[in-house]
Amino acid sequence: MIRTRFAPSPTGFLHIGGVRTALFSWAFARKHGGTFVLRIEDTDLERSTPESVKAILDGMHWVGLDYDEGPFYQTQRFDRYKEVIQQLVAAGHAYPCYCSKEELEALRAQQEANGEKPRYDRRWRPEAGKTLPPPPAGVQPVIRFKNPLDGVVAWDDAVKGRIEFANTELDDLIIARPDGSPTYNFCVVVDDWDMNITHVIRGDDHVNNTPRQINILKALNAPLPVYGHLPMILNEDGQKMSKRRDAVSVVDYADKGILPEALLNYLARLGWGHGDDELFDMQQFVEWFTLEAVSGSPSRFNHEKFLWLNAQYIKAADNARLAGLIAGRLAAANVDTTTGPALSDVIALVKERVQDLNALALEVDYFYAKREPAAADVEKHLSADSHARMLRFAERLAALDSWTAESIHELFKPFCADEGIKMGQLGMPLRVLVCGTAQTPSVDAVLALIGKDEVLRRMRG
Ligand code: GLU
Repeated sequence: MIRTRFAPSPTGFLHIGGVRTALFSWAFARKHGGTFVLRIEDTDLERSTPESVKAILDGMHWVGLDYDEGPFYQTQRFDRYKEVIQQLVAAGHAYPCYCSKEELEALRAQQEANGEKPRYDRRWRPEAGKTLPPPPAGVQPVIRFKNPLDGVVAWDDAVKGRIEFANTELDDLIIARPDGSPTYNFCVVVDDWDMNITHVIRGDDHVNNTPRQINILKALNAPLPVYGHLPMILNEDGQKMSKRRDAVSVVDYADKGILPEALLNYLARLGWGHGDDELFDMQQFVEWFTLEAVSGSPSRFNHEKFLWLNAQYIKAADNARLAGLIAGRLAAANVDTTTGPALSDVIALVKERVQDLNALALEVDYFYAKREPAAADVEKHLSADSHARMLRFAERLAALDSWTAESIHELFKPFCADEGIKMGQLGMPLRVLVCGTAQTPSVDAVLALIGKDEVLRRMRG
């Protein structure tokens, strides 16, 4: 049974890199009929906040990545971590270290002076034939893991291939602080073990933690999961995405009017591919997804492609749903849609023209109230002659019995012939006069939606 997890630390917002990690973990579990677990890694009590937990849960909900188990919280599992620490100590795999801060600093200074890499010299590590000094009175020790002294730790990373670390590069990791609280790498190990995680899929910023975690798992006689480390996502300039420069929080994307399914589709394509396929839903993704097809090198966020994809999803989305999604934006802009055409019909007409929901919300106002036209538009399209002509066209509209885009359209040709003008000389003034803007979809369809009385009122008003 495949079991994967997403294990964010609640120290900020839900980062889109995190969403991509979650997405790949989720897809892998779904593909294999497995279980996807959400674990909140909140052991860093100073940096973890309830707001951030909420942002993670809301973000997961918004993108629609459902989990089968959790959320589990590490802060609720301290007793268990302490129990395992005791086990390790009892089995001789971990030991108390009474080094004071000052001693460690002196050691570091000395090593640096000798040009050595600073590291703990294992002075409290019990070894056969070694005599340890008596523990200093009144000092609460840390607990260190007895890392193997030689050999290599290696694993076949499902994304990056074989990775090896020499044990000589690894310290005796602190697994419990003086107050007994467990440290980050240790909690991850116990959790992955207890939660029977078979595949650890996470960002490649954790590659350096993996050999330490594997050594602890081995000491616990726990089965080793498969590790797959995902390369990071870079911005368009090839830099690491940062909050200052880039939209990195899921909320930013919601605010920008991105549909969650478009974000997921785009993230799926970042560092993973299926030929030239760009547009696919999550069911298709789950079917196609393999860890082997994940690229080992970083991928770049391409805004143009991303917005193109969002536009495709807006086109395909249900109009009533889109209406619901832009309702708040319309209310904020004082666009009253309670009278006039059905908002979903307006959306059906204008949505081809936009790439995000903010732009969509800016396209609907003139169906409900005429926009104040720009002076340049009035000058260009509504000269006195042209205005008089529009009033003559209003007569023809007024005479229509049936008010549809087709019946309106049928008036165009004969009117232009009678007036000796081209279609543009009718269409553009008509738009500016009725809508207050020359940028609208097909004018017959726009007029049909606005309704006969309102169109005539606006033209004659
Ligand atoms: N909590 C870690 C993070 O937010 C992830 C740890 C893991 O996946 O093992 O980066």
